Amino acid sequence: MERQTEFQVQCPFCGEHIWMEFYPEDGQQQETIVDCEVCCNPILYTVTFSSRGETRVTADRAQ
Ligand SMILES: [Zn+2]
Repeated sequence: MERQTEFQVQCPFCGEHIWMEFYPEDGQQQETIVDCEVCCNPILYTVTFSSRGETRVTADRAQ
């Protein structure tokens, strides 16, 4: 079974839904800051890949 690499997240600034790609090869725990393509504010993405194949993605305002 192929792992999910695309995740829909909601921008914490403007509420827009954004598709982001994350790969477990980049690490089980990932933190990355990407500017929202709609409102251009910096979003901090926290990504956790569990060993059972579950993925958690959260989006917060980067300071
Ligand atoms: Zn936004």
